[in-house]
Amino acid sequence: MIDVKTISDEFCSLVQIDSPSLREAEVISFIGEALAAMGIDSQTDDAASVLGGNAGNLIARIPGMPDAPTVLINAHVDTVEPGCGICPQVNDTVICSDGTTVLGADDKAGCTIILTTLRHLIEEAIPHPPLEVIFTVAEEIGLYGAQALDFDALQSTMGYVLDGGRTMGVITNAAPSAYRLAWDVRGVAAHAGVCPERGTNAIRVAAEAIAEMPLGRIDHETTANIGVIAGGKATNIVPECVTVRGETRSHDETKLERQRDRMLKAFDDAARRHNTEANAEVRHSYRSFCVAEDEPVLRYAWRACEALGFEPRTERGGGGSDANVFNEHGIPSIILATGPAEVHTVNEWVDAERMAESARWLTETLRLIARQT
Ligand SMILES: [Zn+2]
Repeated sequence: MIDVKTISDEFCSLVQIDSPSLREAEVISFIGEALAAMGIDSQTDDAASVLGGNAGNLIARIPGMPDAPTVLINAHVDTVEPGCGICPQVNDTVICSDGTTVLGADDKAGCTIILTTLRHLIEEAIPHPPLEVIFTVAEEIGLYGAQALDFDALQSTMGYVLDGGRTMGVITNAAPSAYRLAWDVRGVAAHAGVCPERGTNAIRVAAEAIAEMPLGRIDHETTANIGVIAGGKATNIVPECVTVRGETRSHDETKLERQRDRMLKAFDDAARRHNTEANAEVRHSYRSFCVAEDEPVLRYAWRACEALGFEPRTERGGGGSDANVFNEHGIPSIILATGPAEVHTVNEWVDAERMAESARWLTETLRLIARQT
């Protein structure tokens, strides 16, 4: 039975375990024990040593109907800041934080939904396909846990990522591609009062570059941001270096590259004007994906939605998630709604009723896949 009170309790236990990115060991062992209590074996991979964290991704392989395709089920266990010492406030079925931290429903709601679904499948002996259940680490800082997975060892031909939004029935089947950019702008230090003409002001160079480039919403599917700037030592020193970090995202790879190049050019031009250098570091943090409506992974979730009376709807996401990584590695994956609202803020909240609905949705999806084959 999928019980709202049980879900609320398990969710509250999960969010009370601190799990900032790269410090997920305690929550990984909590989930491992919850799986063990269901009779499910799980192992962690070597992501901890690869990433310099204290926990690997937790992977459980669960046998299912022999002719059915293997299905990947995923949620991430790390949470964003401020996310330590979370004190969940329960009001009937609605759960929020005490206002000093995030709630961590992104993505402890997904973790709860997966545990609830597995328990339900086992208790009710519901036919399901073979499952590869993966709880990833370090998602929030750049999808690092998923990127560290050994994809050769995975059998899955479709994936469900439980890391969605508030409205049941919403399927995120597309997400943008993104670049992270960083610049190290060089200037020449000089005494600002005695001989400023001998200096080159690195902050000035960066300011000109930033003022020149298009930022914000570039078009309906492209965005760009400069988010961090640091440099300078004192008001009486012409600053000799400044670092700047930014990003750009787009659903269209060509537009993405164009925007990336504009940002790079703005720094190059400004540096050239001042006879100095701006060294850029460019990282393609994740690739866009778009799962077609006739892909089996989407069809099953769609039909399950209809069977449960939720209105199925596809949506393009604005951010990266582990689904980007799974799709990039050839496992068509979509993101299912899990219930949270106002994620990444201290106002984050979730209704346990939505988590129960999401668990029913996942259960029904898996049942349809098993029945189809
Ligand atoms: Zn998330």
